[in-house]
Amino acid sequence: MSILSDKEEALLVKARAIGAEFVYEPEDVAKGVKEYLRLMDKGLTEPKQAMTMIPTYVTAVPNGTEKGVYLAVDLGGTNFRVCSIHLHGDSKFTLTQAKTPIPKALMIGTSKDLFSFLAKQIENFVKNHHSDHFESQSPNVHLKLGFTFSFPVEQVALNKGYLLRWTKGFDIQDAIGKDVCGLLQAEIDALNLPVRVVALVNDTVGTLMARSYTSPGKAGTLLGAIFGTGTNGAYVEKLSRIKKLETSPEGEGDFDKSSGVMVINTEWGAFDNAMKVLPDTPYDRALDKNSVNPGMQMFEKRVSGMFLGEILRNAIVALIGEGLFKGAHGTSIDENGPLFTPWSIDTSALSTIQADYTSEYTLTKQLLEREMGVSAATTGDAMAIKALVYGIGKRSARLAAVPIAATALATKAYENYKIAKSEAQRPEEIEKIDIGVDGSVVEYYPGFERYLREALRDIQPLVPGAAGLEDAIRIGIAKDGSGVGAALIALVA
Ligand code: ADP
Ligand code: MG
Repeated sequence: MSILSDKEEALLVKARAIGAEFVYEPEDVAKGVKEYLRLMDKGLTEPKQAMTMIPTYVTAVPNGTEKGVYLAVDLGGTNFRVCSIHLHGDSKFTLTQAKTPIPKALMIGTSKDLFSFLAKQIENFVKNHHSDHFESQSPNVHLKLGFTFSFPVEQVALNKGYLLRWTKGFDIQDAIGKDVCGLLQAEIDALNLPVRVVALVNDTVGTLMARSYTSPGKAGTLLGAIFGTGTNGAYVEKLSRIKKLETSPEGEGDFDKSSGVMVINTEWGAFDNAMKVLPDTPYDRALDKNSVNPGMQMFEKRVSGMFLGEILRNAIVALIGEGLFKGAHGTSIDENGPLFTPWSIDTSALSTIQADYTSEYTLTKQLLEREMGVSAATTGDAMAIKALVYGIGKRSARLAAVPIAATALATKAYENYKIAKSEAQRPEEIEKIDIGVDGSVVEYYPGFERYLREALRDIQPLVPGAAGLEDAIRIGIAKDGSGVGAALIALVA
């Protein structure tokens, strides 16, 4: 371990102080849960809320016996994935996939440019992996495709949904208000592909379905949650609680009411846009100001992959502004480099730094050089950056506990679990509340689930009915969730 110089000591003290601005206390988490419960009810009752609570018309979750071969595509924010899924009917599946990054220009161009690009990727995939189908089948035999589209839409049927607004850096004005399935089908037809878009699926709903198909045990999954480019969740809600189904146009769609439940896409990225309870720092404010949608998606902007790198950049810039970093001890920073270029730090950098347990912080120094334009960083510099990363990453994971706790409480999933347990002959056999998650942040950020669970434990004494909650929750990655989920929804279509 190196001995730090006085300047490095001063830098580290300052970095720890900035890191401490991201501390999200137990009381704050509890306040978050209470506000989330309030906005959840409001969204289920009144139309046009920021946290929209969108009815999906999906009224059952799978049990693992479903079978068939389907196509699925996923427009998530960063990549476009095309895959085919073979569901074997025993909770298992096989999946073939191709993944392409979405060119930045297409995110802010025209809907024609974007959707013809997507159709082209589908054509390549079908030609590569389903050429049999492509050539030999009669033209009216179509592959059914589930379209995972992870932006807010007003869904009016299983394969029809009007785009409400873009998020995650997309901004294609002419697409707003249009049916995104129609846009994709038109471009597929223009290429004469034997493919029919039969279902529009939010990635959260796909994650919920996929986890429910593959999860151990026979009880269904309660919640599917995404922590990737953005963050959002979908859960199983009682029809009787979705009061706006009776009073607003959203309830006009015809659907099977026999299960008594419907999956709700919460759009929790917009939780507390009013900033009543969310934590706020100068680094968050700078990010929001520079974003394409100031004042919107305020929860998402503190939690998900599109934003954590930029929060870190803002915090590092503040540290540099203190005069403690730049030139302090021979370190040099490229003034035209990534640290001074908005949105240029990828959130994977936080994972790399968080995971750096080398004694001299070698991995962090390399990353500073490679991705941040900082050469000859010292161990003190690296430790300072890690202090910032730790604060930002931990706050993200603790924030993630808010909707998870609130959903388990509001749906009475936790209450029912406790009752079942108290009545059971073998309480240890009562299945935990199952939650499926997907997205690079939850999958790769070191300690994400651990920090999330700490926050769940923190609220146990502070929120009514939450005692023992953490232990009742099982969290599992829904691997390939969006693809499998889209296939499962295409199946019922
Ligand atoms: P999508 O949201 O398009 O479905 P992902 O779930 O892969 O895609 O999420 C992509 C986001 O995750 C990007 O914002 C990226 O910065 C971030 N990311 C990628 N790799 C990592 C990592 N190792 N750790 C944390 N975040 C990551
Ligand atoms: Mg995704």
